[in-house]
Amino acid sequence: MKLKLGVLLLASSAMIAPAAAQQQGQPNPNQAAAKAILQAADKAIGASNVRSYTVSATGWRAYPGQQYHLADLPRSDLKSFTRTVDYATKSAKSDYVRVQGNNPPRGGGAGFPVQGEQRVQELVNGNIAWNLNAQGEPARQAADVAGDRQLTLWTNPVGFIQAGLAASDAAASDRYFARQNRTVKVVAFTIKVCDGPQPQCTRRLTGEFNNDNMLERTITWLPDPVMGDKMYEVRWTDYRDVGGGVKFPFHTHAHMGDHPLIPGGHNYQDLRISDVKINVANAAQAVPDAVRNAPLPVQNRVVTTTLAPGVVLMGGGSHNSVAVEFKDYVVMIEGPLSNQRTNAVVAETKKMFPNKPIRYLVNTHNHFDHLGGVRGYVAEGATVITDDRNRTFYERVVLAPQSRTLSPDRLSTRPFAPTGPGQLQVQTFTDQYTLSDGNQSIELYHVEGLNHSDNMLIAYLPKQKILVSADLGAPPAAGSPAPANVSPNSIALYRNIQRLKLDVTTHAPIHGNPGAHAEFARVVGPAAARAPQQGGGGE
Ligand SMILES: [Zn+2]
Ligand SMILES: [Zn+2]
Repeated sequence: MKLKLGVLLLASSAMIAPAAAQQQGQPNPNQAAAKAILQAADKAIGASNVRSYTVSATGWRAYPGQQYHLADLPRSDLKSFTRTVDYATKSAKSDYVRVQGNNPPRGGGAGFPVQGEQRVQELVNGNIAWNLNAQGEPARQAADVAGDRQLTLWTNPVGFIQAGLAASDAAASDRYFARQNRTVKVVAFTIKVCDGPQPQCTRRLTGEFNNDNMLERTITWLPDPVMGDKMYEVRWTDYRDVGGGVKFPFHTHAHMGDHPLIPGGHNYQDLRISDVKINVANAAQAVPDAVRNAPLPVQNRVVTTTLAPGVVLMGGGSHNSVAVEFKDYVVMIEGPLSNQRTNAVVAETKKMFPNKPIRYLVNTHNHFDHLGGVRGYVAEGATVITDDRNRTFYERVVLAPQSRTLSPDRLSTRPFAPTGPGQLQVQTFTDQYTLSDGNQSIELYHVEGLNHSDNMLIAYLPKQKILVSADLGAPPAAGSPAPANVSPNSIALYRNIQRLKLDVTTHAPIHGNPGAHAEFARVVGPAAARAPQQGGGGE
């Protein structure tokens, strides 16, 4: 007995030995290795010589969360792309011209298919992000956009090496890549991308260095209301001298949103760089007064409009929801944006319909801006109703327990017990589905011939003759002149209303204001008559 105890004591003191050694000031071998690798990498490409840079490139960019269906992302070609980075001010400007990339043009959100040329200017300076529109007018972006943009300062090899050398927690380890039969040196550290609470402002960065101490790949994670900790990976190749003792990669290829449960990779961006200038004049991006003084865009403002007894438009932001009161519960049509938006809309709904649970959440389609608040409704106990094409992705990724360290939400912090009496979670359909308690009804229909998403539904309230649709246009103001171009999405909606013989009086769109169907028909009807039969479809 005594002997056994002795062995136990010996084992436990051996286990605590490394921690004790560290406390006595001996260096952590992993941290010493990281420093050596980063110093060698700095010597190899001259990262410390770079205070600012401008790259010019062409290539393409894709749009995670806006795909037509759950295959690869809709893609725009970048006719030109210029990016300037200034490390001292943590500022950056991307200025690019995008044109439709997929051929033939496949739809999706984010303005796909892209008509003509669109110039986009995205800027960040510390905690402030803004865009410039085609007229050069600035528009402040939300705080999390600034964090995401700041992160991209440090993914590039120059930024990664500088940030790694400055980090107090950089550590290195070897990793064997079986498929290439070689070992790379992996350096990892954390950085702050905003001034705020943890863990929301902390990002983990990982870099893979080859035997020549060149950074081959950077991996990090972005907070995403749909995906959770969303992987962002950039590969760096074709290093060339750009003067001043500096080497830069002339080819970058990035993935975003790859996930073990999603087949294939999600190609996000590919750039072939034609020119790099280092330590350029006027690289810092000054924050315009109009941006600094602008209120931060918020998602928790809710403005309610009663469309009919028991039917309430929950507006006040970029995306509406529509609450419909049934005898024993409430049905919410659309859970957009984020957990924060959902919490605000749910609080308002409880005021309007006290003592009625939100039993169902109807999701119009799979685009992330229309899906980001769905988890909040599931946390509330609601069952999600959506197209059957979405079932696997929603069950296995969106609603599955997985890493959400960067932006924890109500469902991740207060999960359902898998064996508990919880909710049904996902209810799907293919052509149509009706919710009814004999008095109140909502009819859901699959939208055919649409190029925006293959899993789009519209919701029709037969008693009130109200139609709820997302991303398919809205009625113009009464008497306004017909626009020169009617969106193919609106034509598709018009044709589906006709096909289904829906007796619509009022549109309650997820974007924009409610309006009369007569106005919608006045503008869209003639365009639908002129357009080819598959105008909005592109199947
Ligand atoms: Zn959409
Ligand atoms: Zn939308």
